[in-house]
Amino acid sequence: MSGDPLLARLSEIVGDTQVLTGAEDVKSYATDWRGRYFGVPRGVVRPASTQEVAQVVRCCAQAGVPMVPQGGNTGLCGGATPIGNEVLISLTRLNRVRHTDPLNNAITVEAGCPLQRVQEAAADAGRLFPLSLAAEGTATIGGNLSTNAGGVQVLRYGNTRDLTLGLEVVLPSGEIWDGLRALRKDNTGYDMKHLFIGAEGTLGLITAATLKLFPRPKHVVTAWGSVSSPMQAVQLLGYLRDRVGDSVTAFELISSVSLELVMRHIPGSRLPLAGPAPWQFLVEFSSAGEMLAEVTDAFQEAMRDALIGDVVIAGTLTQAQALWAMRENISEAQKREESPSSTTYRCRFLASLSLLRAPMKR
Ligand SMILES: Cc1cc2nc3c(=O)[nH]c(=O)nc-3n(C[C@H](O)[C@H](O)[C@H](O)COP(=O)(O)OP(=O)(O)OC[C@H]3O[C@@H](n4cnc5c(N)ncnc54)[C@H](O)[C@@H]3O)c2cc1C
Repeated sequence: MSGDPLLARLSEIVGDTQVLTGAEDVKSYATDWRGRYFGVPRGVVRPASTQEVAQVVRCCAQAGVPMVPQGGNTGLCGGATPIGNEVLISLTRLNRVRHTDPLNNAITVEAGCPLQRVQEAAADAGRLFPLSLAAEGTATIGGNLSTNAGGVQVLRYGNTRDLTLGLEVVLPSGEIWDGLRALRKDNTGYDMKHLFIGAEGTLGLITAATLKLFPRPKHVVTAWGSVSSPMQAVQLLGYLRDRVGDSVTAFELISSVSLELVMRHIPGSRLPLAGPAPWQFLVEFSSAGEMLAEVTDAFQEAMRDALIGDVVIAGTLTQAQALWAMRENISEAQKREESPSSTTYRCRFLASLSLLRAPMKR
């Protein structure tokens, strides 16, 4: 039991083993995914239910002690990292799927549910939960909501905000706000849930959410190609939408610099195109009906009109996954490039810094 009276009280709520204070125990909570930010919390508290979260928050509020909510700790801007001395509330033990309702295309899950588990629960019910991002095995739905994550299918399905029907939130006072509605045509009063989405935990702790599900697409076409500039990529996207409409599900513009990082740091990576290109794109189409012929025609015309340089279409699921891996490994490659052991990056960074500074000294 801790000598800190607040942590002792929190231990009574969540149990001794769920309040962590040892340097090794709190280490993984104290720094972010990229290892850029670091702060030692007063303690890490791991409640397992909405009621426990509410009691923990009430105690901290009464003691005037700041709190930092944390989900999977995969955020890229330090929002889940303590500055120092806060109580860090980890939501990962609130990880149940409460209810799946395929008839209403809705699912209710607790905030600490990893995104991938939400996708799997939706698939088990014959439905799609379309939010998808490289960190989905670890990132939680509470973190997705609090960062209003977009993911790779944002073009078609929108951000996490657009995928949300209702929320349950513990307010800074410790009161529970129950807004877990699954009604689509809900036009009553203020839509409070939007205050908490994208708020990075500043207005309350999300403990559960009711999310939208969709029919699973029956046909998917994945392609990778090259364009000469970002402007041309925008023109291509508009062109493809004109040609094949709403079935454009994902469109990612990727620089050659990002691809170089993936090739350098992720073993087994292979460039999809034979020749060099400053800008490449990954596009995915999905729909209920067959569309390979339509997509192939659209690309042929785009080539004829010089909108694209080259393009490959995945012929198998494995090929499509390999194309996606090139895109999804970019964050991991950037992280490895930035790690202290990566001298190449450090030398380059310092070189460019001195170049930047040189004119100022003169
Ligand atoms: C490899 C990788 C790829 C990514 N790709 C994408 C992408 O394609 N598109 C995109 O939009 N984002 C992407 N991200 C960022 C992604 O949005 C976040 O990593 C994810 O949504 C955060 O979830 P988390 O559970 O890890 O939250 P955390 O990192 O733990 O927290 C993020 C923020 O939310 C707050 N928070 C967490 N849980 C709660 C809660 N229950 N209630 C209130 N506040 C809470 C935290 O205090 C913090 O401010 C990527 C990240 C990685 C590492």
